[in-house]
Parts: sequence; structure tokens; C-alpha cells
Amino acid sequence: MTAYGKIFLVGAGPGDPGLLTLRGQACLQRADVVIYDALVNPELLKHAPKAEHVFVGKKSERHSLPQEDINRILMDHARRHGMVVRLKGGDPFVFGRGGEEALALAAAGIPYEVVPGITAGIAGPAYAGIPVTHRAVSSSVTLITGHLRKDAEDLQANLGRIAQEGTLCFYMGVNTLPRIVQDLLDLGRPPETPCAVIEWATHARQRAIHATLATLADTVAAEHVEAPAIVVVGDVCALGDSLAWFEARPLHGLRIVVTHAEQRQGPLEQLLLERGAEVFSLPTLAVTPMADPAPEEFSNYDWIVLTTANAVEMLFQMLDARNQDLRALAQCRICAVGATTLDALHHRFAHVDAVPENYRSEAILAAIEAQGGATGKRIWLPRADIARSNLPAVLREAGANVTERIAYTTHAPAASEDRLEELLHFDPHCVVFTNAGAARHFCQMLGNSAAKPLPWWTAASIGPVTTSALEAEGYRAAIEPAEHTIHGLAGAITAWWAARAGGKET
Ligand code: SAH
Repeated sequence: MTAYGKIFLVGAGPGDPGLLTLRGQACLQRADVVIYDALVNPELLKHAPKAEHVFVGKKSERHSLPQEDINRILMDHARRHGMVVRLKGGDPFVFGRGGEEALALAAAGIPYEVVPGITAGIAGPAYAGIPVTHRAVSSSVTLITGHLRKDAEDLQANLGRIAQEGTLCFYMGVNTLPRIVQDLLDLGRPPETPCAVIEWATHARQRAIHATLATLADTVAAEHVEAPAIVVVGDVCALGDSLAWFEARPLHGLRIVVTHAEQRQGPLEQLLLERGAEVFSLPTLAVTPMADPAPEEFSNYDWIVLTTANAVEMLFQMLDARNQDLRALAQCRICAVGATTLDALHHRFAHVDAVPENYRSEAILAAIEAQGGATGKRIWLPRADIARSNLPAVLREAGANVTERIAYTTHAPAASEDRLEELLHFDPHCVVFTNAGAARHFCQMLGNSAAKPLPWWTAASIGPVTTSALEAEGYRAAIEPAEHTIHGLAGAITAWWAARAGGKET
């Protein structure tokens, strides 16, 4: 089986490079290759300086490449690259043949996402000072092609098709839906016309409901669709069956709380969002640096072992308070445990000498031993007041001279009653914990709030230390990955959600 990268069909906007979306920009920054058309402002390629740029646009007004060739180029790049951006002028699904490209990708089983862009039909008028709808002046806008089809002799015939076969998008139409449907039927729109209602479109909680014109009003009532929603009428709605990429993402429908240290939203949140979850971010751990009563002479140490990103921050705050910087650590080698710790160091431009394979004390010792042994080495180990690890003992047993240093204390941040109300209203399926302190404080925060009983949402824990902290509060972690990393954790949550009633219940 061929492994494919992912293709992002990205709207480039109408021309002004400032009218690209943030999501479009993020896609370009991560792209391995960008395949773009003539209508795309080449300025936008500067967001993808490292990517290969492939032009497949039309020269003059003629297609220089037939659509089948473009589809083939897309698939070929998806086979060779991890991330392919197909950049199209305006919005990819508005007269851009993006629908044809998406269908070809779906048929070939190539993963893709759609990043809408601002279409010229909205942006052009806006830049000319023309609001496309205006109360009491115009109550609709239809996007229509000036390309006449072979069987449409004149524009009138084409215009006549709008009511008969064009796509109609109704804003603010949920309450008046029975009337809209009746009027369309009276105008001769066939009752079997495919329709869709998209509630909370593009939000993680998006729900797209399909019906025909005949069944639309009843379906919407039965499904309790509420505003905000957009009602779409037209044959294109039938394509939604093949192209429903957004709601097919593995964590779609999952409402998850991510607990974390204050001011430190981890990459876990990003991973869960990318997979389609709706994330409620809740700081449950505040960190206070300890004063520096007996300044350390870093030149006395061979190694500094950093096990959390907080320890990294505290180390640099300590240096800063003494008007020092990285150079004060010139004599020391640095061992960093965990991807977040490593990131924090790289962020500070610090080079790391040893990266253990996992969090276990034995792995940390092995990483140090691989760099010239631990015996007789002077090791400085800053940690939190609550750290409960056998690391110092393991290092000492191997003959190292370990100095432990409580660099920071942790406590529960002040959570407003409002935020806790919002949490209850959010009604999560799952709460995820990546450290013991955050786990303990979460239970205490909820236990203390307005005398409400602790709700037993499914708990996901990154590893045994966090799991036992939860257990001490009477909270059992139903999810714990074999690999104690955020990737392992995201994988375990995804497997749990897939197993749960097909993951479709809300
Ligand atoms: N997907 C594009 C439309 C592609 S069809 C979008 O959503 O905007 C190509 C047509 O779009 C052009 O013939 C022109 O009518 C219109 N168009 C695209 N960019 C435009 C611009 N900057 N100014 C005016 N019209 C534009």
C-alpha cells in the first residue's frame, strides 16, 4: 500500500496578500511543496520559503494544464511529500475546480483538508465599498459564473437556472425554514433536491445534516438544529457524502479538557485540535520560583539534569536575576528529559548533550553514562517541591555526586467560579492530565467549587506518576498510554474514542 502525505486545498484569497487566512499561512509554513495557480499572488509563496513551488496555472485565458494532469501532479506529490499545499485563488470551492480535485483525492484515498479563502465575489465588492447584502436594499447574494454552458444559449437561460438548479445558501434561515422550503417548491425546485444544514460550521462541534428539499424542515426540527447554521440547497450537497473530511477526523465530536501549567499550553493541545477534538484549556498548576539564597556556582558541576520545562524556565530566571546568561553554564553538560523540556532549552538557544529515551531514572542514568560515565560526576538537579522520583538515588548509586535543588514550588492557580461554570457547561467526555501536580489541583479545584460533586469524566493520564496522583484523589485514569509521551497519550485517546460507540455519540 502506498503511503500518502496530506494535501491541503488552501484558499489564497483574492489577491491582496493580507487576505490569506492564518490557517492558510500556517499550512504554507509547514508545506513541503506548494502547487499554485495563475490567480495566486506569488507574494504568498514567501510564507513557504523552504517548499518546492510548482506552477500549474493557466497562461493567458487558456488552461495550460488539463484538470486530469493537475490531479495527477497532486497525487504524485502526495506520494513523495508529507505535506502538500494546493494553493488556489480566492476560495478553493468557488469556481476553482477545487471540488473536482477533492473528489479525485477522495477517490484515490489520499487524505486532504480544505482551508477556505476569501472569494473574489465577496472581497472585490468589499474593496469597492459595496456591502453584498444590506438590510432593506439586498437580501441575497448568489455567486454565479459568466461562463455560459454549451446548452445555455443566453444569459437569461442561465439566470433562470438559479432558482431551478443553482446553489442557494441561506443565512439566518433556521427559524423560517418551512416557509423557505415551501417557496422553493412553489418556484419549481424539485422536492428531491439535495439539501444540507451546517450548524456551528468550522467549529470543532460542527454538525452537517443532510436531507432533501421535501424532508428538510422535518429533519431540522427532529435534529434540534439551532443557530448559527447555514442552509444550503442544491445538487452539490450530494457531494458532501464523499467529501465530508472535517467530521471524519478521528477526534471529531470529542470534548476534552486539557489541564496544564499556567502560561504553558503544551503541544498536546495542538495535537488534539489537529485530530478534530473540541478542547477546553484549563490551567491547574501555578509555579512560583524559589528565591536564590545560596547562589550556585555552576562551574562546580559536570552535569545539569532538567526534567521539566518549568525547571528550564526557573534556571534561566535564576541566571537572569544574577545578571548572567548561558555562558555561566559553559562548564556543564546538559541532560534534558522529555520533548517539552528539550523545546524549552532550544527556545533558549541551549545545546543539549544527552537526551534519555524516556522519563525513567534508569534511562536518564544510561544517557549520562553513555557520555563518559556517571561515577564521580557532580550533577545538579533542580526540581519542583512535589517531585517524587527515585532519580537522585539511582544517580548516587552509580557513584554520582548529586545536588538537589528545589527550584520552584507548585500550587493551584486561583480559578474563577465563572471558569468552572464554563467547564460544567462544556460537559467534557474526557479530561487529560500530563503531570501529577496539575492532576491533584484539578480534583481539588472541582471538589471545592460550589459544593458540586466531582463529575466522573473519563480521565486520561500520561503515565504512572500522574495516575497515582489521581488515584490518591479517588479519580481512576481509564486511559494511560504504554509510551509516556504526548504522542502516546494522543494515540491512546484516539483509540479510546474510536472504540466508544464508533466515536459518534456526543
Ligand atoms: N476561486 C476563485 C474564483 C476562480 S474563477 C475565488 O473564489 O475567487 C476565476 C474568476 O474569479 C476570474 O475570472 C474573476 O472573475 C474572479 N476573480 C478572481 N480573483 C479576482 C480578483 N482579484 N479581482 C476580480 N476578480 C477576481
